Amino acid sequence: MSNPNPGTAGAVLVLNSGSSSIKFKLVEPASGNTLAQGLIERIGEPEGRITFHHTTGKDERFGEILDHRAGLRAVLEILEGLGRPLHDAGIVAVGHRLVHGGNVFHEPTLIDDDVVRAVDELSELAPLHNPANVVGMEVAREELPDIPHVGVFDTAFFHGLPAKAATYAIDRDVARKYDIRRYGFHGTSHEYVSHRAADFLGRDIAELNLVVLHLGNGASASAIAGGRPVDTSMGLTPLEGLVMGTRSGDIDPGIVMHLRRVGMDVDTIDDLLNRRSGLKGMSGVNDFRALLKLVEEGDEDARLAYDVYVHRIRKYVGAYTFELGGVDAVVFTGGVGENNIDVRRDSLAGLGRLGIVVDDARNTADERGERRISADSSQVEVLVIPTDEELAIARAALAFV
Ligand code: ADP
Repeated sequence: MSNPNPGTAGAVLVLNSGSSSIKFKLVEPASGNTLAQGLIERIGEPEGRITFHHTTGKDERFGEILDHRAGLRAVLEILEGLGRPLHDAGIVAVGHRLVHGGNVFHEPTLIDDDVVRAVDELSELAPLHNPANVVGMEVAREELPDIPHVGVFDTAFFHGLPAKAATYAIDRDVARKYDIRRYGFHGTSHEYVSHRAADFLGRDIAELNLVVLHLGNGASASAIAGGRPVDTSMGLTPLEGLVMGTRSGDIDPGIVMHLRRVGMDVDTIDDLLNRRSGLKGMSGVNDFRALLKLVEEGDEDARLAYDVYVHRIRKYVGAYTFELGGVDAVVFTGGVGENNIDVRRDSLAGLGRLGIVVDDARNTADERGERRISADSSQVEVLVIPTDEELAIARAALAFV
């Protein structure tokens, strides 16, 4: 889709290409407005689905989507079909959300053949994510060859982690040979949210210590000092750290060896820890609203899963508060962090003597958007800051136009 009106600020198409899905969002970076967004699911299966929101409503289409190329073509056709407002905006760049940049990519990068090849080579570190990212880049570059494509890496922000936080205490030769270190993920979100938090507080980010809790389907915590990452909970892969929808988060690595010895193969263990653990593994459901419903109904497994989830968050908030030598703000973001009253209350409950007091009325108020939920007496600010990774990616991509 060309830009019929190059005089306008233009829109950036942000793509997040997964193994069987493509998420897309058409964003106007200057205003932050979303012009259209949607999800293509079950690519390669007989019953594919495209869900699509735009400025005037919602569309749904069903039917086979053969492959990523067919999916992306369908997106472009729908975008074309939306008519004037979208045309006026014009797509001036494509921003690709890329998962693992390894030790190679530390900042937004203009995508060319070499970059695609390098991301492909990093697939060993992220077998569930990077191959799908590569397909997304290849197809999108073929379909939209005349505009810049920019890769924004989930790991990039955490490239600057201090060595003592990034290093696993294993044999150094093995670690070096296989590039084993803490990379961290959700970096785009942690960086965006920490800047928004500083703006909200009217403070210079350079003087702030923050703990950011990104609680979505995937979940991660980070400690940020002066806008720079000091520690983060995800590691070589997104499996480490907090309890997630379907991922275990921290476990004793001995469990993996034990399961191997009792006869599980590596792929089964991978599937167990990535897709059948976390809230889903403990309670049967991975969606947080479904979990809360079970808790209300008196389901004991669901109650335990909730407690484990909250316990893990508290552990990280405590550890990061000490690492930072005290914090100015704890920030909640992601689907659960932005919406769930209970998790915000329970994960910071009883911490008055550490200067952290959540205000019940503020926490339960029916509000959206950026807000403070700590009490006036709280020495530590507790904030809810909605994340917008696509906007951050769109802005990064626009810098190359
Ligand atoms: P993703 O990691 O896929 O981007 P999100 O950040 O959208 O995920 O978060 C998804 C999670 O947020 C789900 O577990 C969902 O149940 C939860 N969530 C979304 N809205 C609410 C809500 N109003 N109350 C509680 N949980 C919510």
